[in-house]
Amino acid sequence: VALSKKEDVDIKGGWKIGDPVPYAALAKVFSLIEGTTKRLEKNAILTCFLLLVIQRSKKEDTKSLLQVVYLCINRLSPDYVGIELGIGESLLVKAIAESTGRNMAQIKADLKKEGDLGLVATNSKNSQKTLFKPKPLTVPFVFQNLREIALSAGHSSQAKKVSIITKLLAACQGVEAKYIVRSLEGKLRIGNAERSVLVSLAHAFALAEKEKVGKKWSQDQLAARMEESANNLKSVYSELPTYDKVIPSLLLSGIDKLKEECKLTPGVPLKPMLAKPTKAIGEVLDRFENKKFTCEYKYDGERAQVHKLEDGTVGVFSRNSEDMSKKYPDLVDQLPRCIKESTKSFVLDAEAVAIDRTTGKLMPFQELSRRKRKDVKVEDIQVRVCLFAFDLLYLNGEPLLRQPLYKRRELLREHFTVVDGEFAFAKASDSETVEEIQTFLEESVKDGCEGLMVKMLDSDASYYEPSRRSVNWLKLKKDYLAGVGDSLDLVVVGGYYGKGKRTNVYGAFLLACYDAESEEYQTICKIGTGFSEEMLQTHYDTLKPLESMKPRGDVKVGGAKPDIWFEPKVVWEVLTADLSLSPIYTAAQGMVDERGISLRFPRFIRIRDDKNADDATGPEQISEMYERQALAQTSGKKKKGGD
Ligand code: ATP
Repeated sequence: VALSKKEDVDIKGGWKIGDPVPYAALAKVFSLIEGTTKRLEKNAILTCFLLLVIQRSKKEDTKSLLQVVYLCINRLSPDYVGIELGIGESLLVKAIAESTGRNMAQIKADLKKEGDLGLVATNSKNSQKTLFKPKPLTVPFVFQNLREIALSAGHSSQAKKVSIITKLLAACQGVEAKYIVRSLEGKLRIGNAERSVLVSLAHAFALAEKEKVGKKWSQDQLAARMEESANNLKSVYSELPTYDKVIPSLLLSGIDKLKEECKLTPGVPLKPMLAKPTKAIGEVLDRFENKKFTCEYKYDGERAQVHKLEDGTVGVFSRNSEDMSKKYPDLVDQLPRCIKESTKSFVLDAEAVAIDRTTGKLMPFQELSRRKRKDVKVEDIQVRVCLFAFDLLYLNGEPLLRQPLYKRRELLREHFTVVDGEFAFAKASDSETVEEIQTFLEESVKDGCEGLMVKMLDSDASYYEPSRRSVNWLKLKKDYLAGVGDSLDLVVVGGYYGKGKRTNVYGAFLLACYDAESEEYQTICKIGTGFSEEMLQTHYDTLKPLESMKPRGDVKVGGAKPDIWFEPKVVWEVLTADLSLSPIYTAAQGMVDERGISLRFPRFIRIRDDKNADDATGPEQISEMYERQALAQTSGKKKKGGD
């Protein structure tokens, strides 16, 4: 009962069963979700709305719910298809001016004051006198037009985009313009991340089931069914992350059939399994004692998930499910040489690593990052890439996620062939003692790797866990052993104007970690040293278009006061000498202390453009790092005392 009677009536107003979903209803729901900070409330509001969409759509209509869900997560397609919005400010200002008759300077001035172009668009519309009430917008109409905007390319595309946006804005009423503009910008800012949308969707199906068959469930039974549905959907979606397949299956066959119908499919990349950091070999043994485990080289390249379909199509996907086939045409060319005849379709998990053409030696990640991301021509390629395969997730029609690692590895070695300088299996050793692991680690570093990955080999603990940072995979980096500690991946959320020589760029930056639980960015430190002038210019060019006068609603600011805020998008890898408690920053607040945790002497390492803002380091990892440091300091003191 998340909606009041009035809200319910407002949402349903003018929406007949079988009609297309009115965009006004969705905009109303967005504004209700934005109006509360309580996660459960946000969740319940969306659940009620999705239930209405399910109940009011015609039986065979799977598009309405699909489009509503896409608009809720502000996407127009699955990640790997890559149809993206993110229209620049100037284009939007122009369209708002054209559709409301205001001049662009006024709109820019309002934007400076409000910090939200969506709000400026709504206010501009509301101050405009209209003679005719425009025809109400519908979800399919808005969705179709957003897609058209995202897909338009070529030299007259700017004018075309402005014309579609102007047409859309002219038809907006109430708060609609606010959310259309935000969708166009690529930032909905209602504080509802994709994970929550997935849960609301599962809950809506449980409720629909109850109402449809008039099940007489108690509150407890209903709650249990909702939880079961959510777990079911989350697990299926982690294997097959595309609503294009999952939603029609939910609607046509129901949640209980979902696992059967929606399995890992070559061509649809899944979010990769990730590892937890460890500081010492002893820690590895504590965790894996009496269990079978394996150590593999941790190659310093770029993660590559390689898919081959029965029809011969090959896809190479990044850690973020982006299609990288255009960045690595050489990998695609090389692949047939390492596949055995019996191997018809597969999904490989691997690391693409740069190697020296003449010596065959591994080269660091930086060599790869120099490559263009698109339209790379094989004949122009200077740096050769070798694929080091470490896992096999699918083979000849069968998903292998729930097979133990030793079995997956056997199949991998059976069905692929090593080709010098093109394809190899990740070097592995099933070592057991500290000495053996230490020797293997040193060897890996000598060979140009970052260290080792230690993985559970047997039992259900060794199943592949998509999108999880799992304790069943531990990373042991050479840096940890040198006492440097793990690096952090942090989001740039604010900037400080430079002084002296640096007046035309930002001189320092405010960084934040990302808490997936509360879906908020928590500030962690200011970073301003270690940048060359050239680097500062690059950062300025990237961050300038993301500027905003106010922090976004999901940034937990604390006492930080940057001169300008950024849309949380850019991720940097940062090293720190030390972590300390801080009354200013909000990272991991309440986890080890009422105060937050901050980084002392942070140092910029590199841009992580293979990571999204919500892949940034989380507060649990930061508090774990802080506690370890505290522990190391106390035991260090004790040792000294003992001496
Ligand atoms: P990092 O900054 O350490 O690369 P990450 O967050 O990208 O961290 P982690 O889970 O911490 O990812 O480390 C695993 C990464 O190491 C994988 O994403 C993969 O790209 C790389 N890697 C290299 N060799 C292996 C291997 N043998 N097994 C698994 N991953 C490997």
